[in-house]
Amino acid sequence: MEIKVVRDILEANEVIASQNSTLFAEKGIYVVNLMGSPGSGKTTLLERTISHLKDTERIAVIEGDIATSRDAERIAAHAIPTVQINTGAACHLDGNMVRGGLRELDLDRIDLLMVENVGNLVCPAEFKIGENDKVMIISVTEGDDKPLKYPLMFQVSSVLLLNKIDLLPYLNFDMERFQSDALKVNPRLTVMAISCKTGEGLDTWFSWIEERAGKKGS
Ligand code: MG
Ligand code: ZN
Repeated sequence: MEIKVVRDILEANEVIASQNSTLFAEKGIYVVNLMGSPGSGKTTLLERTISHLKDTERIAVIEGDIATSRDAERIAAHAIPTVQINTGAACHLDGNMVRGGLRELDLDRIDLLMVENVGNLVCPAEFKIGENDKVMIISVTEGDDKPLKYPLMFQVSSVLLLNKIDLLPYLNFDMERFQSDALKVNPRLTVMAISCKTGEGLDTWFSWIEERAGKKGS
């Protein structure tokens, strides 16, 4: 019985997510669903990306958090349209929450919509929101064993950003094991090692998202 309820919820979500996706396609908006643990660097990555791309792309951000508007305030300080969704008890964003957030945005003036999901390595992976790509960020401090422990998130992502590589000298993080486990779980995954602090590796990420957003907008 419980399994059927879960399946119904996921199916209902798929319908709304595909409606969102149709709307994004009509408006020529490229949408990224950014997922990762609390503290993995999601908001900092968005800030870095906005600073780099805001002269060439019209960007908007939806911030998903259980509580507070702290991240939205950080993003809004960059003078781009920002919507905060507080999920209350829910530990992920779903299609319907994102649809609600879209009412606050002028979709005719957006090329790139970045959605920061709730900090969580589990259920954000199960709920589509109408995105073009899911992108996962994980920091080296979280340990190299995560691909095998949380495989679904790695499976559904197009890009895996391994953040805080400036801290590698202080940790027992086995980069080769991490990469090979991640690719075992998802052979199509593009892995990028970055540091949002030092900027290392970010050019690769900027090129990737610029290319995706550009294709969509044209
Ligand atoms: Mg954040
Ligand atoms: Zn959840």
